[in-house]
Amino acid sequence: MKQNLLDLDREGLERFFADELGEKRFRAHQVMKWIHHRHVTDFEQMTDLGKALRAKLHERAQVRVPQVQFEKPSADGTHKWLLAMDGSNAVETVFIPDKGRGTLCVSSQVGCGLNCTFCSTATQGFNRNLSTAEIIGQVWVAARHLGNVPHKQRKLTNVVMMGMGEPLMNFDNVVRAMSVMRDDLGYGLANKRVTLSTSGLVPQIDRLAEVSDVSLAVSLHAPNDELRTRLVPLNRKYPIAELMEACVRYAQRKRGESVTFEYTLMKGVNDQPEHARELIRLMRDFDNRLQMKDAAKVNLIPFNPFPGTRYERPDDAAIRRFQKLLNEAGRIAPVRRTRGDDIDAACGQLKGQVMDRTRRQSEFRKRLQQGGAGAVA
Ligand code: SF4
Repeated sequence: MKQNLLDLDREGLERFFADELGEKRFRAHQVMKWIHHRHVTDFEQMTDLGKALRAKLHERAQVRVPQVQFEKPSADGTHKWLLAMDGSNAVETVFIPDKGRGTLCVSSQVGCGLNCTFCSTATQGFNRNLSTAEIIGQVWVAARHLGNVPHKQRKLTNVVMMGMGEPLMNFDNVVRAMSVMRDDLGYGLANKRVTLSTSGLVPQIDRLAEVSDVSLAVSLHAPNDELRTRLVPLNRKYPIAELMEACVRYAQRKRGESVTFEYTLMKGVNDQPEHARELIRLMRDFDNRLQMKDAAKVNLIPFNPFPGTRYERPDDAAIRRFQKLLNEAGRIAPVRRTRGDDIDAACGQLKGQVMDRTRRQSEFRKRLQQGGAGAVA
């Protein structure tokens, strides 16, 4: 079977060129630039490669990108793609332009097995992890659409691993894809412009700290264990105290980088003043542990309802009241504007097309209970 070059980061590509093609490293670099800077997938168009090398590449390799099944621009500039990953599954990727920056929200799995009770993706079940090619392929599709040129015309400035799936459940593929995002021969994004958002897999947060320098965001959503377990069932395995300790360790390894805590506000569930006060205490403790002001950043996300959900969005007054309590405690807590809600691209609304593999899903949960995500390849 031909090697999909999108599955390889710089190191993997160099190895493939040396071991499989008997070619020098710089040839791998040339090809990487063709793929990620110029969005070329046909070896014939890679004009600075010799004829013999192009023939070898035809024989042994390919550049297979996800197929756009559907795309939809929103009135506010947000753009959503539905990308076919195989015959029966598709994931969603969303580009959100804002003042001076453009953020791409990338998916890491087809569906998700973690069952957060407020999440639209969770209602679709879980099918499989995305490959590195399928993850970086989302960036490739968006970059080509935007006419993004790394280091020159940079329209895609940030990537958040916040789409469908729990990225740390697909550790190796996600880390490899993030390495291409940050590579100068890839998309050239600075470490802090690539953010991995997790629901709180403690061992994998520690593992991530060892291999990557990306920004960390944590889907907290509740300030105490009783409530968080109801919203994010994974909390039963990794309660808040353990999760916060892992975040402290991550920030310490990153020499004082802040961690962002995402808090989706749901009416009458976690939007009361007592919740704000508990959250403030939690954030203050985090700052104290790191001896750094604003080590913990909070993002408030008004819930985006989807068909069949039991949760509601709080009214604007309740959102403002919650934010004001945090502000009065000296904490900056921006409320994320709802973007792309006319195309169901708002946070927590990504759905894609998932062939749920129920048997696989229960296996997946069993493995999670036994040994964490590391046990799931
Ligand atoms: S919120 Fe994230 S981790 Fe939780 S079910 Fe949805 S996609 Fe999975």
